Amino acid sequence: MIRQFELVERVKAYDPSADEDALNRAYVFSMQAHGSQKRASGDPYFSHPVEVAGILAAMKLDTASIITGLLHDTVEDTVATLEDVSRLFGKEIAFLVDGVTKLSRLELQSDRTKQAENFRKLVLAMSEDIRVLLVKLTDRLHNMRTLNFIKSADKRRQIARETMEIYAPLAERIGMHRMKDELEDLAFAELHGEARDGILARLSFLRTQAGGVVERVAEKLTATLGASDLPNATVNGREKAPYSIWIKMQRKNIAFEQLSDIMAFRVIVDSIEQCYQALGAIHREYPVVPGRFKDYISTPKPNDYKSLHTGIIGPERQRIEIQIRTKEMHEVAELGVAAHWTYKQADARHEGRQYRWLRELLDILEHASNPEEFLENTKLEMYQDQVFCFTPKGDLIALPRGATPVDFAYAVHSVVGDTCVGAKLNGRIVPLRTQLANGDQVEIVTSKAQTPSPTWERFVVTGKARARVRRFVRHQQRTQYVNLGREILTKAFRQEHLELTEKALEGSLKQFNCGNVDDLHAAVGEGLVTKGEVLNAVFPNRAERASAKVVPLVRARRPLENAVPIRGMIPGMALHFAGCCHPLPGDRIVGIVTTGKGVTIHTVDCETLESFTSMPERWLDVAWDAAEDGLAHVGRISVMVGNAPGALGSLTTIIGKNNGNITNLKITNRSADFFEILVDIEVRDVKHLSNVIAALRSAPVINSVERARG
Ligand code: MN
Repeated sequence: MIRQFELVERVKAYDPSADEDALNRAYVFSMQAHGSQKRASGDPYFSHPVEVAGILAAMKLDTASIITGLLHDTVEDTVATLEDVSRLFGKEIAFLVDGVTKLSRLELQSDRTKQAENFRKLVLAMSEDIRVLLVKLTDRLHNMRTLNFIKSADKRRQIARETMEIYAPLAERIGMHRMKDELEDLAFAELHGEARDGILARLSFLRTQAGGVVERVAEKLTATLGASDLPNATVNGREKAPYSIWIKMQRKNIAFEQLSDIMAFRVIVDSIEQCYQALGAIHREYPVVPGRFKDYISTPKPNDYKSLHTGIIGPERQRIEIQIRTKEMHEVAELGVAAHWTYKQADARHEGRQYRWLRELLDILEHASNPEEFLENTKLEMYQDQVFCFTPKGDLIALPRGATPVDFAYAVHSVVGDTCVGAKLNGRIVPLRTQLANGDQVEIVTSKAQTPSPTWERFVVTGKARARVRRFVRHQQRTQYVNLGREILTKAFRQEHLELTEKALEGSLKQFNCGNVDDLHAAVGEGLVTKGEVLNAVFPNRAERASAKVVPLVRARRPLENAVPIRGMIPGMALHFAGCCHPLPGDRIVGIVTTGKGVTIHTVDCETLESFTSMPERWLDVAWDAAEDGLAHVGRISVMVGNAPGALGSLTTIIGKNNGNITNLKITNRSADFFEILVDIEVRDVKHLSNVIAALRSAPVINSVERARG
């Protein structure tokens, strides 16, 4: 285990300005927090964070990263809290430790390698600061190095699989090739140990047979370059990693014996010009394997990898791969973003890069004057336009940012969306309009009786959800208009003692530009065609009655058989309750047909009706359905209460005790003595509202209560 002073010395060696005191305190804090905890190896648990900090120091990271490495398991695994960390080490460290802790919690969920790409994106989206990801990867690296101590083979394999599918690609994505190679090799050893052993054995056989072939080829290449005025070029040869050989064998479906280019050589030179000069020298000397040349200097890879790649038939008549690069390019290739601490002056040409985050990263690099500043400003803004959420089974669903449980439900399945009534976010019930966050576990509550609500359209963000809700609402609205229109025509014809037949209506379809009878019904229901127009069309010679003179009250007293029952109509679609008079079941009511909107229901004594007296065509006899419709209706009352402490409390208590649900409350007037308040209450019917009013009137603090009109 690295001792306290050793760790500090290692950091000081590359960063003389490092905060020695903070490093010392973090070392002691972590040691005390982990106390007597043990690892699977039997070592003190504390050895793990210390090793992680040591690896981070070897990558020459800033003090905050090293401290985060020391503390990364304290919040999750010990009694220490994030508040402790924040108090003792400041907000920045607390933020980083919190980030690593959140990533570690994700690991505890079930197997998610099935959706590796989404999971990788989630990790990136949650690593707001690049240091969080660097510490997490290092944590994984050390756990992989000590994987063999875990007793359960299943667990070892699961960790190895996750490393292979999630963490090694993440390391590669941020350009940390050395870490990626090691993670891959460790996972390969666990998952396909025999294949790896076979490849290693084969490689060592070839090595003895060919006897130092790598060294000989390297020497010859060095000589070739020296002869071409590149005496400083260094050539390193190596066999490819067992895992990449294995992948190649699988991809090309070839046996190990057939694999020809298992050696790779790296030429390191001083400048970009020398890279091309070295390439020319090698191509002049050896036969080139067609199709293997790639220029990643003029067109870097998305993660900023730069090199020239070529394949030749080498000095010993074997196919070999050659990479040519400068020292700076080499550091970036091996260490990725971590390399930028030491080589901030790296080549400034950035064209060809696809990822905004990396471009921003390098922009910061160029302008940062020290590593700390660079790190502080490096925010990994990846996938900020998306959120990734888990189903209860641990599947990941990617959604656009701002998505709600309704979007999530539709993403799972259309039927789940159509029938969703509620949602639990991480076990807690939330409104359906709640915006989801990365890593949320979402459980959708469904009910067969539920249908999509028109209000959902206001907050859903996915196209699928919006389309489904719209389609449903449109369909529902049409059904309502058709039913309403049919009722209107049936009553109108009966009232005139005329016979209404489908056939008769069919004859008039053309006149109304309708394709079928239902279209006509819908048009009448929607108020686009009046019942009088239909009557005239079907019976052109009928005598026009003097219904224009009828006043509302008289009409309301007509026998109910001619009234349209407002049963089964969904408020807000073909049917609207007027906001001026708030009609309730039990009130005498009348409908006004509004062009394009269906019917608005008013109480018969509503003042608004006066403006319709000259438009008899638009009046419609309507009746409450005798059967309980189960819907809550909103009644409005106007209350005068004494301006005294607790007066409002009494008001709401009395309403609540009488099963009234307050939906809105508005103070319209306030004086030294009194409040005047308008209260909207959900009630069953007019009788229910009367009970509420009576109860309020009996309360001493309440001065007066009236049902509000207009
Ligand atoms: Mn750890």
